[in-house]
Amino acid sequence: MKLVCDDRFRDSGYASDNAALPGRMEAALSGLLPGPWDCVAPQPATIEQLLLAHESGYVHRVTEDGPRFAMASLAAGGAILAGRLAHGGEPAFACVRPPGHHASRVGAWGHCTFSNLALALLVLRAEGRIESAFVLDIDAHTGDGTRDVLAHWPRADVFNPFAPTAAEYLDLVEARLAALERTDIVAVSAGFDAYKLDVGHKLDTPDFHRIGHLVREAALRLCRGRRFAVLEGGYYLQDLGANVQAFCRGFAG
Ligand SMILES: [Zn+2]
Repeated sequence: MKLVCDDRFRDSGYASDNAALPGRMEAALSGLLPGPWDCVAPQPATIEQLLLAHESGYVHRVTEDGPRFAMASLAAGGAILAGRLAHGGEPAFACVRPPGHHASRVGAWGHCTFSNLALALLVLRAEGRIESAFVLDIDAHTGDGTRDVLAHWPRADVFNPFAPTAAEYLDLVEARLAALERTDIVAVSAGFDAYKLDVGHKLDTPDFHRIGHLVREAALRLCRGRRFAVLEGGYYLQDLGANVQAFCRGFAG
């Protein structure tokens, strides 16, 4: 597995929301670096790439906020790099911010700017590398932006599991992945705010390992192991590193 990360993501000055909290990226990376995985730095997404996911008026508005545009286009580029690595046979986790799953074609909310994961899939599709994709969104919140951006792609399937308990949640994820008959790639919107001490109040650290493992097994069965994940939410900084690490260990295998 490769880790897509960059010191530039540590800069918290691009926004003043929970995703931009000082120390958040350090916390997320604390369980990964130094570690068994190489860190690869991304290039910012180009305007041409951003227009695969977003309307030009929205992209233009974001460019008027220099620090936010710089960070968000780098995050989008990180997801694109993770997608390309995954397609080439190297699983990848993009540890980026701002998150993206609440970014639609025409706007964004919930600490997001560009639709990182959906954009990565659209780039692979535009390059003729994939025709279908399965997205598992484990953030505590629904990936409404991802759904909006991928709405016109019938073979892109977005799944947000919701269940009252962690055990039922894991059963749901396992059943949905087991029912998948084909996909060219599996992508995970890896939010960690469903953690028991975060806003979602549900999953424990080993549950993230289990989810990563289930995704790995499904990808190996369906698409030669092609899989990547992109960081979304996760605000309980004390345990964020342990949760990210647990997921990545299961995901990398
Ligand atoms: Zn969330």
